[in-house]
Amino acid sequence: MPATKYIIVTGGVLSGLGKGIAAASIGHLLSARLKIVPIKCDGYLNVDPGTMNPFEHGEVFVLDDGGEVDMDFGHYERFLGIRCKSKWNLTMGRIFHMVREKERKGDYLGKTVQYIPHVTDVIKNHIYKIAEEESADLLIVEIGGTVGDIENELFLEAMRQMKEDVGRENIVYLHLTYVPIPHGVHEQKSKPTQQSVNLLKQRGIFPDIIIGRCSEYLTKEIRLKISNFCDVSPEAVVTGLDVDDIYEIPIVFEKEGLAEILHKKLNIYSPPDLRRWKKLVENTRNPKSEITVAICGKYTKLEDSYASIIESLNHCSAHLRCRIHLQWIETTDLKDASVLNDMNGVIVPGGFGSRGTEGKIEIIRRAREENIPFLGLCLGLQLAVVEYARNVCHLEGANSTEFDPDTPFPVIDILPEQKDIKEKGGTMRLGAYEAIVKEGTMISRLYKSHSISERHRHRYEVNPEYHKILTDTGLVFSGTSRDGRLVEFIELPELRYFVATQAHPELKSSMEEPSPLFYGFVQASSGAG
Ligand code: GLN
Repeated sequence: MPATKYIIVTGGVLSGLGKGIAAASIGHLLSARLKIVPIKCDGYLNVDPGTMNPFEHGEVFVLDDGGEVDMDFGHYERFLGIRCKSKWNLTMGRIFHMVREKERKGDYLGKTVQYIPHVTDVIKNHIYKIAEEESADLLIVEIGGTVGDIENELFLEAMRQMKEDVGRENIVYLHLTYVPIPHGVHEQKSKPTQQSVNLLKQRGIFPDIIIGRCSEYLTKEIRLKISNFCDVSPEAVVTGLDVDDIYEIPIVFEKEGLAEILHKKLNIYSPPDLRRWKKLVENTRNPKSEITVAICGKYTKLEDSYASIIESLNHCSAHLRCRIHLQWIETTDLKDASVLNDMNGVIVPGGFGSRGTEGKIEIIRRAREENIPFLGLCLGLQLAVVEYARNVCHLEGANSTEFDPDTPFPVIDILPEQKDIKEKGGTMRLGAYEAIVKEGTMISRLYKSHSISERHRHRYEVNPEYHKILTDTGLVFSGTSRDGRLVEFIELPELRYFVATQAHPELKSSMEEPSPLFYGFVQASSGAG
């Protein structure tokens, strides 16, 4: 069997240059003939990002297997069309946990347990094991953070050591840096790249490829300069162009010859076929219709906190040739729902805690009464049920026990299996669960399947004691768990599009296969449904 190949992706100068998108785009370029597994190493001491506020860390991405992982896995899945596994996200918290377990078991008996070799061995062995288990042709290992950060030193050291284990011909080190064009200077500058590559070299890593993030294509001069100072060949200096649409990045990399460089360096052959991808990107650029969608969010770093929702809408833009403008609505101090006046549709996304919930309920009421297309996601379903219970079933004061433990009508209540759970890490109802679809519903038309699987992340559910009163008054449960206890999808059939789900369908949407629920929502909002 040919040896597994490795591409190690590091970043320098600045955080937020788009290492995840670069890694995912490289994966996309090489995926035609290779089985690719993406790995992300994060230096923080949390075991996973599940307990972090999205405000700090961006969206928590959930996988089929229930793993709560870094949001870069969203990019990997969306660009590669694969399903990732939680063990592919390696945090320093998880590594230390493994080292400590080994120490307690006596695996290191008599030894002093040290960062090198013990911690670095655990990192490397974890990675090699994944390569073997997955029979992967290529592992793309992204190191979070920026070279020089204390947090990622051990990961970098492990990456340095890897070339000895796997052979220099089987590993490529790729460094993403920043090439600024300072205001008034009008010239691409290479110094930050030189300094960042020096930091990497001090750690024994000599990059083979440098991607320079820049607002324009890198000039011949700067490529030569970086090549000279950083000791890479000029064709291995590649532009990481600023783009409005992240799906253009594989196209930029193809144009820059990145696939050929990687083929040459790793002795692989997997020529990219971007025909369909380019067509979709072209569609996004040339919309035939335009809509404005309201999203009722509460996290201020909106772009990161709701990344998958934004991307799901982008996928619909490409497939339906519809430009979608987003209008963020902070519902904490919402005076009235007139903010919906010029909206073509409204999304109420997932969330935790009571802040802003009454405002969201008011928005949902307005969407229902005025027949504005509505899509509720997780908390969005729960609040749609609360609204319906209060205003249609006349259960005054109905609420979720998450927000009002003493509500007279607990239409949303904690899942029975969640009642005695005290620990917070990884204990929600997480991952892929099946829903059985009711014939003749919107859900059945959109998914074209009797049984569907979407990902979940919640502790509360529609209280089974209220199923009857809700359905008797016209709410349709269009998808439930097989035993009928858990309500997975609801809809109001007489409206244009009033659909909500207990799941997070945004987590499975990809450029090549948009989420049916978002697709139906955008169709309805643009009047095409
Ligand atoms: N807070 C709600 C629950 O735990 C909704 C969660 C969510 O929207 N992801 O059930």
